[in-house]
Amino acid sequence: TQFSDLNLDPRVLQAVTEAGYTTPTPIQAQAIPPAIEGRDVLGIAQTGTGKTASFVLPMITRLQQGRARARMPRSLVLCPTRELAAQVAENFDRYAAHVKLSKALLIGGVSFKDQDALIDRGVDVLIATPGRLLDHFERGKLLLTGIEIMVVDEADRMLDMGFIPDIERIFGLLRPGSFQTLFFSATMAKEIERLTRAFLRDPVKVEV
Ligand code: AMP
Repeated sequence: TQFSDLNLDPRVLQAVTEAGYTTPTPIQAQAIPPAIEGRDVLGIAQTGTGKTASFVLPMITRLQQGRARARMPRSLVLCPTRELAAQVAENFDRYAAHVKLSKALLIGGVSFKDQDALIDRGVDVLIATPGRLLDHFERGKLLLTGIEIMVVDEADRMLDMGFIPDIERIFGLLRPGSFQTLFFSATMAKEIERLTRAFLRDPVKVEV
């Protein structure tokens, strides 16, 4: 399989080529096609396998249809730590270099004011840690009912950090039946399995 076989938006494919990648990693080859079709994906993969591109590339491709509205982000990537969220944001910037999509990074240590201004303008891709996202929600600045794509990255680390109740709460703020979930974890602990059974709909399971 080559990236050109994966039905990516041509401008996304161009960015991948410019990054120097020609061959998708196993998680990318298996997760990208169903994700582009709109299926839920359960990816069991460690960091270093190329899992970030396996959700960022289909996300950018799918978001080409439609337009962001004020305070209603269209997609959400939940990450356990600020560092990981910043890495996902860097990946997004690289792969979205030739398309017009807006992004906001909601992590602690950044002023609410700047983040509010971005959200007010309308955001295609929101990359956040769970606590900070809920802080914004509770301040009434953000609606999650417009989310089309929900990504949970490194769910096993979310579990270690005690974020599972936050994740469940966030799923409960989305509009039932109107979003796709791409869910990644290095391991399938009982709690993670329970979470995926509660929220994923007929997921394609990809294990690398
Ligand atoms: P990740 O598992 O997403 O943290 O990615 C691990 C590293 O692999 C990152 O430095 C990526 O830039 C790189 N990478 C991702 N996809 C590919 C690919 N298809 N070929 C070569 N390197 C890649």
